[in-house]
Amino acid sequence: MSEPAPTAPPPTALGPLAVGVDIGGTKVAAGVVDARGRVLRRTRRDTPHRSKSPRHVEDTIVAVVEDLVAHGDDVVAVGIGAAGFVAADRSTVVFAPHLSWRQEPLRESLGRRLALPVFVDNDANAAAWAEHRFGAGRGESHLVMVNLGTGIGGGIVLDGRVVRGRFGIAGEFGHMRVVPDGLRCECGNRGCWEQYASGNALVREARALMSANSPVATDLFARVGGRPEDLTGPLVTEAAREGDALARELLGEIGRWLGVGIADLAAALDPGTFVIGGGVSAAGDLLLGPARQAFAGQLTGRGYRPSAKIVQAELGNEAGLVGAADLARVGAAGMAWADAGDTAMPSGGAAVPADGT
Ligand SMILES: [Zn+2]
Repeated sequence: MSEPAPTAPPPTALGPLAVGVDIGGTKVAAGVVDARGRVLRRTRRDTPHRSKSPRHVEDTIVAVVEDLVAHGDDVVAVGIGAAGFVAADRSTVVFAPHLSWRQEPLRESLGRRLALPVFVDNDANAAAWAEHRFGAGRGESHLVMVNLGTGIGGGIVLDGRVVRGRFGIAGEFGHMRVVPDGLRCECGNRGCWEQYASGNALVREARALMSANSPVATDLFARVGGRPEDLTGPLVTEAAREGDALARELLGEIGRWLGVGIADLAAALDPGTFVIGGGVSAAGDLLLGPARQAFAGQLTGRGYRPSAKIVQAELGNEAGLVGAADLARVGAAGMAWADAGDTAMPSGGAAVPADGT
């Protein structure tokens, strides 16, 4: 046996690789991700329709992973980010509204077919982890991510760990009640946050003014050829950027509601940074300016406590797959340590953080 090197060997250029798979309602996006969060190779397929059996979605996942690992990369684990409730042990999708999964033991069935360790997470948890490790929350140990899409999803990283909750369902911020007896939500309750601060809320308000033939909606009307049903969130953002007063006002309103809800989250969780992602976050300061202002005016203990930063997410659509891959890579390293006994450390000085999950 040769002498051990006097200093730790340098990390390999890419570190251990993992595959991340982000399963959305319409697309399955996957990529090979290195230890610095870079996507080395990517692929995507259509998500099988929800009427199909769970096996169809599973087949699609197996196909994209096999496609990616066929290049001979040394992939150590596969991470799945799925929109839905994922049990806290990261093995079972309890409920996925856009898929036919109900109590689906995804980790076991995929692990068998792929012969790699598989970790399943909620997609918002994965995105929050990615922003914490490689994005807008780099270096921040206490981070809350709020995703403004059709609804509001969220992820929590406290003390450098993903907080999933006892049942895996933490971070469902969209259904916090911010307005007593407010607008009806599809969850059955009234006054949920996502009825006021989401992409759907933005489009709903704009369409209401268009349908009422409001003179303030003239510009938006022209953008969709007089068809309110064609209006989308990105179109409102575009109009706001180009100076349309109504579009700016509507984004400002969404921003204010965002700040109000974030102040409640700060009271409960006290993070150092809120990272705002999802489609609506593309509006940048047109959204975040009003959010910061409302937050400052609502924060409990304001003036007597440090205030969290509110920043725009950096990783965009790839946050889910990057985070899922990294959580799987870290998780697989943890399993290796456990298998080898508590005193064993990963060999080769690979860049695996000890602050994983
Ligand atoms: Zn609700």
